[in-house]
Amino acid sequence: MSNAIPVPALPLRQGTAGTEPVAIPQLGFGTYKVSDAEAERVVDQALQVGYRHIDTAQMYGNEAGVGRAIAASAIPRDQLWVTSKLNNPNHRRDDALRSFDATMDALQLDVLDLFLVHWPLAASAGIDLVDTWRTMVEILQSGRVRAIGVSNYQAEHLRTIIDATGVTPAVNQVELHPYLIQQELRTVHEELGILTESWSPLGRGRLLNDPEVVRLAAELSVAPAQVIIRWHLQHGLVVIPKTTHFERVRVNADVLGFELSAAQMSALDALDRGLRTGSHPDQVQV
Ligand code: NDP
Repeated sequence: MSNAIPVPALPLRQGTAGTEPVAIPQLGFGTYKVSDAEAERVVDQALQVGYRHIDTAQMYGNEAGVGRAIAASAIPRDQLWVTSKLNNPNHRRDDALRSFDATMDALQLDVLDLFLVHWPLAASAGIDLVDTWRTMVEILQSGRVRAIGVSNYQAEHLRTIIDATGVTPAVNQVELHPYLIQQELRTVHEELGILTESWSPLGRGRLLNDPEVVRLAAELSVAPAQVIIRWHLQHGLVVIPKTTHFERVRVNADVLGFELSAAQMSALDALDRGLRTGSHPDQVQV
């Protein structure tokens, strides 16, 4: 087993229990669209390479595979970060509590590091963002998760749940990459003390053929994926690229030996075109 990739761990300022400081490794490993059987193999590879942060979700159907890879590794629990997410049909209190138990059984964990509400479901009849968030707070208070947060929340969703409960999410995990830089939402996060996590950080691979990205990669003698991952890191974002290919698992982690200049960062910022590769939060329903 390799040593951990020496990426910084970013402190969570909100949404944590107790007085212990909680910090999330800035580079994680994504597992969306990875089957349960495949998850065991690729998470094992990621841990071998030195990733110490794994991102899964009830929706992905691979928590058990992730759990088997973690159980088989010799990594001490306090050196590993695991995030999972509440699935859309599980927002009602009983379903949320029951599904959280199932998540913990599948992952074979006593304590989860981060549990997120996967989608706001603001357009769904009978779903109240505040009720769901109150249940998340209950789970936090049970001591079985170190931090709670949300995913795909817009500024108004964040303000609604914070105003009603006084509890601010630790993170908001949203689609974010150079084609969708989410500047306004990032500013709101900074004001509220919420850490921003980038999902589909490579734009699901679309950014890797962008001429500007390819040009910068050649200039720096690195791979296009490394340029993009570096852009996230230098912006202070948590970044969770996914791949099922071992060589890419390694390449995506090899991002600490070079730096993007201010001009190169600006060139990537300028690629913003509001392009979503995934769903718009206002359109996702139960
Ligand atoms: P990414 O932006 O991470 O891109 C993944 C794609 O890029 C795959 O097709 C992969 O191919 C390819 N790829 C990865 N690395 C390289 C490389 N070095 N060279 C060439 N191609 C590469 O997309 P995801 O949508 O998977 O997002 C990352 C993670 O974010 C997810 O896995 C999930 O954990 C999370 N997520 C969260 C969401 C939410 O609603 N909260 C929604 C979507 C994602 P291959 O696998 O074949 O190598």
